[in-house]
Amino acid sequence: MLDDMFDHLEHVRHGPVWQQAPQAIRATMRCPLPLDPTDLGDVHDHFREAVLPFHGGNIHPGFMGWVQGGGSAVGMLAEMLAGGLNANLGGRDHMPIEVERQVVAWMREGFGYPQSADGLFLTGASQANFIATLLARLRRCGPAVREQGLAGAPGLVAYASCDVHGCVPRAFDMAGLGTDALRRIAANALGQIDVEALRCQIARDRAAGFTPFMVVGTAGTVNTGAIDDLAALGALARDEALHFHVDGALAAPGIFSDRLAPLLAGIEGSDSIAFDFHKWGSVPYDAGFLLVRDGGWQRAAFASQAAYLTRASSGLAAGDWWPCDMGPDLSRGFRALKTWFTLKTYGLKALGRAMEANCDLARRLEQGIAAHPDLALLAPVALNIVCFGYAPGGQSGDGEINRRIVEKLHAQGLVAPSLTMIHGKPAIRAAFVNHRSTIADVDRLIEGVLAFGADDTPTG
Ligand SMILES: *Cc1c(COP(=O)(O)O)cnc(C)c1O
Repeated sequence: MLDDMFDHLEHVRHGPVWQQAPQAIRATMRCPLPLDPTDLGDVHDHFREAVLPFHGGNIHPGFMGWVQGGGSAVGMLAEMLAGGLNANLGGRDHMPIEVERQVVAWMREGFGYPQSADGLFLTGASQANFIATLLARLRRCGPAVREQGLAGAPGLVAYASCDVHGCVPRAFDMAGLGTDALRRIAANALGQIDVEALRCQIARDRAAGFTPFMVVGTAGTVNTGAIDDLAALGALARDEALHFHVDGALAAPGIFSDRLAPLLAGIEGSDSIAFDFHKWGSVPYDAGFLLVRDGGWQRAAFASQAAYLTRASSGLAAGDWWPCDMGPDLSRGFRALKTWFTLKTYGLKALGRAMEANCDLARRLEQGIAAHPDLALLAPVALNIVCFGYAPGGQSGDGEINRRIVEKLHAQGLVAPSLTMIHGKPAIRAAFVNHRSTIADVDRLIEGVLAFGADDTPTG
């Protein structure tokens, strides 16, 4: 199995980014309930034939779709160790929890948070944004909200830019606040929240009797990679006594790059940060993280007394606070190990350089687009994401051709950008998150878009 995966990593570039699994292969997955054992070799063969060749492609250097991380070989090996240990990081006194605490301490230091700060691993930024919403809700409503719900606290409202990731309104839905409680504020030409418009909306809401409690800044919008003015948002949040949360799913790890860190100025003044090691941190899925300015907020929101979780002064059940007091999960896997291995083995500077290299690829693509009369840039390039379209003679049209081009690129299997909507029209979106991607992949993308674009154009 190890040989398979090392071969896979070594040769992934030579296969297609993605290929559709044929019906006959899918059919092999439909087997009866396995009441009796199957030989391990046969199960492994089934994996090699039916699963391995039909992966999602995100470790392939030609993968530029959505915002997905490429992982690393070191992270893969650490996953094997974690699987062997089968540690449960919900609580109790054992070293795996110390590994998670070390990663928390590194992040506290990296983001300039105080000693009171704490945090934990979660599946992803979607969960981390949700937990942050619950913490902000508790800070405004007090611990009674845990027993009484929101009945005693109507009119809670919060703010984010109109380019906020969809998981943030969903967090409001799941927290019982409703998506209407998240006011979507206009963004400027650079895709950043309009801070003056935000200030006006807060004043209007207060005048109308609402209770503002939270502002969400984005570090790396999913569509264009824009980073809100975090320093301005922090100052406003302090003036207005609001919880200041940063959704930094993609770009918060940029704090470890000398070149990218200045773009995040002000993040150290936030109250919580959600981000993903599994995107730009090159840690295999899944490894989401939430950093919180005051660990007391987490304990106030999640700790509960359960007889079966009683703490002892010594022995395996020792310890005042366990990770299960800091978040919603009782059973928790050892996501910290693959992260600890990745950060230690490569070093944060190398991870920072990999992020910078991705931004350089985005610049290269931006230049390629500018240099060609049949391509048009559709959004400013802030970071590692480029939105563009096929525009013969500078005419973007309705953008529908971009949809067809992306589908053809996926079927061809050399590069895989994704599709998004910019100003209501389909746009090709290339997000460079994989450390394996090179300039040759950017050139292949440009060539592919031009070829399929020209092919699609009716020639009379
Ligand atoms: C990817 C992303 C999320 C969601 O993170 P998951 O790890 O997929 O749950 C949230 N916000 C932004 C800006 C993202 O890019």
